Amino acid sequence: MKSVRVVVVGAGVIGFSTAVCIAEALPFCSVTVLAETFSPNTTSDGAAGILFAAEFPDIPLERQKRWFKDSFDHLLAIAVSEQSPDAGVMLSSGWQIFKEIPAKKKPFWSEFVIGFRSMTDRELKRFPDHKFGQAFTTLKCECSSYLPWLEKRFRKAGGKVEQRKVNNLQELSNSFDIIVNCSGLGSKMLVGDTEVYSVRGQVLKVEAPWLQHFIRDGDGKTYIYPGTQSITIGGTRQEGDWRLQVDEGDTKGILERCSRLEPSLSKGKVISTWVGLRPSRKNPRVEREVVQLRSCRVPVVHNYGHGGWGVTLAWGTGLDALGLVRQCLHEMPLQAKL
Ligand SMILES: Cc1cc2nc3c(=O)[nH]c(=O)nc-3n(C[C@H](O)[C@H](O)[C@H](O)COP(=O)(O)OP(=O)(O)OC[C@H]3O[C@@H](n4cnc5c(N)ncnc54)[C@H](O)[C@@H]3O)c2cc1C
Repeated sequence: MKSVRVVVVGAGVIGFSTAVCIAEALPFCSVTVLAETFSPNTTSDGAAGILFAAEFPDIPLERQKRWFKDSFDHLLAIAVSEQSPDAGVMLSSGWQIFKEIPAKKKPFWSEFVIGFRSMTDRELKRFPDHKFGQAFTTLKCECSSYLPWLEKRFRKAGGKVEQRKVNNLQELSNSFDIIVNCSGLGSKMLVGDTEVYSVRGQVLKVEAPWLQHFIRDGDGKTYIYPGTQSITIGGTRQEGDWRLQVDEGDTKGILERCSRLEPSLSKGKVISTWVGLRPSRKNPRVEREVVQLRSCRVPVVHNYGHGGWGVTLAWGTGLDALGLVRQCLHEMPLQAKL
C-alpha cells in the first residue's frame, strides 16, 4: 500500500519531469499531477525546446551545471534510442553567432554539449553582420510530443492525473502529505510570489525542409530552429507583457530578422503563429519550506520560474526537487510514512 500522498501542481515540462522523477524513485509514494491545463495547452507545448541556457545570477554555478548536465544526459539517451520519434527529442547541430565578441567566449554548458568550438572565418562569411560564433550539437525537445510521452511514463510508474485549478494550497492540505509546486507563472497567484513575471515570446512555425541547422543570434531575439515537423523561427522577449494574442508587427519583425540571417527562409511557408509567456524570475525557485495550512504544517517543495530555459533544465531541477521531497520524508512523523 502506498502510504505517502504527494501532489505535483502543474502539467508543463517542469511538473511532469518532476512527477516522473518522484514516482519512479519513490514507489511507496502515491503521486498525483494536478493541473488546470495539460498538453497541448501549456507554455511548454509551444517552446522551441532547444537546450541552451543563460546563467542565473544567484545560483551557484556548480548547481546550474548539474541541472544542465542531468537534463542533457537524460534527453541524449532518449534522442539516440528508438523512443526518439515518440518522445520528440532529437540532436540538433548549428551555430550561435554574435555581432560583438562576447565577454565569455565559452558558456558554462559548453563542456556538456557535443563538439563545442569557435566558428572559423570561413563559416562566419555566411553571416556578414556577425563577428564571432560558436558551433556545436545540442538537443531539441518538442514538448507537444514529449509531454504526452512523459505522461505515459508517469502513469506506468503508478502516477495519477487530475484536471482542476487550485485556488490556494489549503485546498490540498487534507488530501496530500507533500505538495510540489510546479505551477510556473501560476505561482504568482498560488503562492503569492511577487518576483514571478512574464516574458512574452512569439514564434512562427515554417515549412522549409531544406534547412537542417539551427542559427541563433547571441542576443536571444532571433533564431531559426529546425525540428521534427517544421522550423520554429522567432522571436520576442517582452518583459512584463502578458498578451497572449499574436501581434502582426512581431510576425513581420520575426520574418524580416530571420530572413536576414537565412535568406532562403523567404521561400518557406508559414504554417502557424504562437505566443507563450515565459515563467520568469531572477532565479528559478527550487527549494522547500514548511507551510502552515489550516491546522497542519505541510511540506512544500517549489520548482518554478525557469524563464526561457525550462525545457533545458526540467530534468535536472526535477531531480533536485526529488532530493527535496526525500528530505521532507526524512522529517515527517513516522506514522505518516507507514
Ligand atoms: C516562445 C518561447 C520559446 C521558448 N523556447 C525555449 C527553448 O528553446 N528552450 C527552453 O529550454 N525553454 C524555452 N522556453 C521556455 C519554456 O517554455 C518554459 O521555461 C517552460 O515551458 C516552463 O515550464 P513550466 O512547466 O514551468 O510551465 P508551464 O508549461 O506554463 O506549465 C505550468 C502548469 O501549471 C499549471 N498551473 C498553473 N497555475 C495553476 C493552478 N493555480 N492550479 C492548477 N494548475 C496550475 C498550468 O495549468 C500548467 O499545467 C520558451 C518559451 C517561449 C514562450
